[in-house]
Amino acid sequence: MTNSAQHHPDVEDSAVDRLVGRVKGEVLLPGDPGYDAELAGFNEIARHRPALVVAAVHAEDVVAAVRFARERRLAVGVQATGHGIAAPDEHTVLISTRRMNTVAVDPASRTARAEAGAQWHQVIAAAAPHHLAPLNGSSPLVGVVGYTLGGGLGPLGRQYGYAADHVTRFDIVTADGRHRTVTADADPDLFWAVRGGKGNFGVVTALEFALMPVRRLYGGGLYFPGESAAALLRTWRDWTRQAPEAMTSSLALLRLPGLPGVPDHPAGRLAVHVRIAFTGPAEEGERLVRPLREAGPVLADTVAEMPYTSVADIHQDPTEPLPYHERNIVLRDLDDAALARLLEVAGPDADCTDPMVEVRQLGGALSRPPAVPNAVGSRDGAFTLSTLCLPGSPDRVLAPLSGWGTGRRYLNFLAGPDTAGAAADCYDEPTRARLTLLKERYDPENLFRRGHALKPGPA
Ligand SMILES: Cc1cc2nc3c(=O)[nH]c(=O)nc-3n(C[C@H](O)[C@H](O)[C@H](O)COP(=O)(O)OP(=O)(O)OC[C@H]3O[C@@H](n4cnc5c(N)ncnc54)[C@H](O)[C@@H]3O)c2cc1C
Repeated sequence: MTNSAQHHPDVEDSAVDRLVGRVKGEVLLPGDPGYDAELAGFNEIARHRPALVVAAVHAEDVVAAVRFARERRLAVGVQATGHGIAAPDEHTVLISTRRMNTVAVDPASRTARAEAGAQWHQVIAAAAPHHLAPLNGSSPLVGVVGYTLGGGLGPLGRQYGYAADHVTRFDIVTADGRHRTVTADADPDLFWAVRGGKGNFGVVTALEFALMPVRRLYGGGLYFPGESAAALLRTWRDWTRQAPEAMTSSLALLRLPGLPGVPDHPAGRLAVHVRIAFTGPAEEGERLVRPLREAGPVLADTVAEMPYTSVADIHQDPTEPLPYHERNIVLRDLDDAALARLLEVAGPDADCTDPMVEVRQLGGALSRPPAVPNAVGSRDGAFTLSTLCLPGSPDRVLAPLSGWGTGRRYLNFLAGPDTAGAAADCYDEPTRARLTLLKERYDPENLFRRGHALKPGPA
């Protein structure tokens, strides 16, 4: 806090002084030199403007911040990387976790422990020397905790399930200001709800989870010109019906400023990107992928045997901040009529400007309940259909395909202010009802009402 800080009407100066004395990290108010930089996040579609930021360095800072907010009935927000921002936080206490980023791997128990601000690339690097891999997603810059609490759908998903399915323990600060250690035995209801219920029940300060015995992949991406979209969509859809669980794949219709590895691809021109992650032998992978390679003229082909540490090369997600809406629906089917509709709204002749329209195959372990049940929704889905849209751009893709949807969405593929109220759409009715009841029990005053929030109350 500096002299240039603008004191917010929601917080008294003397209370801020006491908070500064209590926390080891920084307390930042609007106008403080570090305030804007602390709030800068990956998705620039929105920017938090809280009454006060606690840049936490350990769990006690999180406890102090939650108690401070609770005493003033201010909402609590949390940001690690800003990949999953919903609406901007105002009149809140925002806990920035980026400094709490320690990662430790225990090869004997094949588990990792990550603090609240850790990113996936740290876990990947720490696990690899032990021939182990986490269930990270497509971008290693995403936060471990936010991703896992929202489910966590990654390149090993069909073989091992959601990242949330493999959490063994977490430490969380709940709305009463208590710092609890939660396991399947210690607090089964909270253990169930937080794994899938995301930030609705408190601020997780550290997460422990199992690692998988994966060292290498047969993986990468195949790029095709947009004119091949119809052939590729049909071939890939048919191919997914036979794909083994060791194969996780997706298909994206891309309209990007440039295409990696294809220097002469015109900016904004449609390209088809098929992403492959196969954990079996490379020869078998090659045999499996052959029909896809033959389905159109290949512009670039990066599919080969790779160390797991190169997993980011599969999707080649953006690494620099940019503004976008992220929206999705879960599909129960992708029949011929659905493919035709998708081509109509997002194919080469469509009036579509979305930089990415993506279909990911679900099924396999993603469709089975985990050993210890959790709140992750959509085990009955066959595919996710998601879009990254330019700022202000309305949905032109998902609504036309909603007839093939399960009626639900996948929580992690929601970002931007227009998705803030969509969390309730992510669960079947019994799961939503149980989450709502538990929200009433653990957060009756709705302290955690920011992000993709559920309302407390009777079912
Ligand atoms: C390029 C890109 C690739 C992605 N790939 C995948 C993918 O392959 N699979 C997938 O499932 N998702 C993916 N996502 C979505 C991503 O998992 C979500 O956006 C996730 O919320 C990001 O978490 P974060 O902490 O990095 O983001 P933040 O914006 O910092 O946090 C988002 C939300 O996560 C919750 N949260 C974060 N930290 C905590 C905490 N300590 N305690 C409680 N709640 C917390 C809060 O609700 C918070 O509002 C991707 C997103 C992007 C932008």
